Amino acid sequence: MDIKNIMVIGAGQMGSGIAQVCAQAGYQVLLYDKNTTALENGIASIQKLLTRAVEKERITKEAKVATLDRLQPTDRIQDAEQVDIVIEAVIENMAVKKEIFTKLDELTPDHTILATNTSSLPITEIAAVTKRPEKVIGMHFMNPVPVMKLVEVIRAIQTNDETYDVIAQLTKKLNKTSVHVNDFPGFVANRVLMPMINEAIYTVYEGVASVEDVDTVMKLGMNHPMGPLTLADFIGLDTCLYIMEVLYEGFGDSKYRPCPLLRQYVQAGWYGKKSGRGFYTYE
Ligand code: NAD
Repeated sequence: MDIKNIMVIGAGQMGSGIAQVCAQAGYQVLLYDKNTTALENGIASIQKLLTRAVEKERITKEAKVATLDRLQPTDRIQDAEQVDIVIEAVIENMAVKKEIFTKLDELTPDHTILATNTSSLPITEIAAVTKRPEKVIGMHFMNPVPVMKLVEVIRAIQTNDETYDVIAQLTKKLNKTSVHVNDFPGFVANRVLMPMINEAIYTVYEGVASVEDVDTVMKLGMNHPMGPLTLADFIGLDTCLYIMEVLYEGFGDSKYRPCPLLRQYVQAGWYGKKSGRGFYTYE
């Protein structure tokens, strides 16, 4: 399949990053958001990142201009009728994603592949609302998208080989490395990472060690670039809790039970860096 036009749905943190890397790789990109302020902010953040890349001599001025030329903001989802691939990156809510996939299934040509950047929702369930479940797939980019090399390419139970191959090839053209993952709760990244973070929170909860000492053990002892509690604050403690609940519910296994201290911090509104307080405090 010859991919020319890509539409990214949702111009937030992830959607704007995905649109940027697609445009940098030479694709014509439509960036859609239903909220025009979010759309303006998304484009502004791409411009800022490209300007910084020029200043640091990582790209040329011409490459920046050409990238921006290939990128078109839109507040009309109907524009999906001209694209080969859609990558959805709206909020992590099944009802919202199902509504969007139903609409995209009506609007897009038969050959269009519908991908989702969900970090935890079952892709099999999203695929089931369309009449082309074999062309629905997960493309789980990491944050920040322009920097992080990995994309988990997740096959729903219905996804066919052709769809998988097209998306694996696209990932390569975006200068990313893809891994093949099947659709089970947490995929690979969050299934491995989140229980480690949850266990780190348990060690604090049970008084085994202080927040700083737990992070030091993992940094100096395991060579992690960042301690698990610092990382949890960056990800957002609300997001960490949400993903633990997905794992707990999805597997029905008590080893995934969220730590009560994590739940309590979230109840207090201590979400980590974004709220100014989590395991650490932020200015
Ligand atoms: P975000 O809140 O920054 O952006 C979401 C955007 O979606 C907003 O701009 C919002 O206006 C838009 N939106 C909401 N409903 C919409 C609708 N019905 N139609 C069109 N646009 C709509 O969120 P984000 O952090 O970019 O996350 C987006 C997706 O990526 C989620 O599924 C999330 O789980 C996944 N993800 C996030 C991360 C991360 O670290 N933030 C990492 C990997 C995957």
